[in-house]
Amino acid sequence: MSDWKTKSLEIVRSGFPAPFYEPTRVPVPPRKRDCVGEECPYRETKDCRPSRHHLFFEHLAYLSLGHPYDKLVKDPHAIVSIARCRHSSTYPSAWHNLYSYTELPKVEIAERWIEESEILQKLGVLIKDMSSQINGIFKEDPASRQRTFGDGKFKDKLEYYESRAQEYSYKVAFVESIEVIPSSIVGSVITNLGVQRNLLRSKAVEIPEFAKVQLARLPAGVASTGSLRTLP
Ligand SMILES: [Zn+2]
Repeated sequence: MSDWKTKSLEIVRSGFPAPFYEPTRVPVPPRKRDCVGEECPYRETKDCRPSRHHLFFEHLAYLSLGHPYDKLVKDPHAIVSIARCRHSSTYPSAWHNLYSYTELPKVEIAERWIEESEILQKLGVLIKDMSSQINGIFKEDPASRQRTFGDGKFKDKLEYYESRAQEYSYKVAFVESIEVIPSSIVGSVITNLGVQRNLLRSKAVEIPEFAKVQLARLPAGVASTGSLRTLP
């Protein structure tokens, strides 16, 4: 590590480090993240909002370290939402009052975090894809209904949804290999994605019946010929 890199972290290495896991030296995410209530310094102004907390801080020091730390500090799974009062405020046990820096994990650990984060991000992309197929089928406007049912596109959408759902089931197993990202973060991501997946699944089950109704509602002849397709 070159001198300037060591130096930029030394600037913030006074006071107490945030709690961290061994042997990774990854910071423990703040457990309590909601507003403290009566003692909230923003109580009068009703100005206590969720704020973004960088798990690896001071984050500017991490940015100055370059790859992979610059990526680590900005990773979506390395940023958590926390009430302003608990984050950085005059409240005595606000996180940044208690702790002034985080231990620096080794390069391999930082790289591993980024790889693990990609596993979670890919699952998120799959759910997004699945959701756009399913929601596309349920679009209400006549032009969409014509395309989806008159032209039989719902079958393609359903097929594509199912291929994505299978890929999700396959890839979710990789989550077990996650070792560096704290389990509380992984757990909440997976729970959230699982809720969305279950909702999509139950919507997908309704589609054959829904399609029958929609096909019956289309003007006579349209469904079989798809003749509206060529209209301007
Ligand atoms: Zn508050």
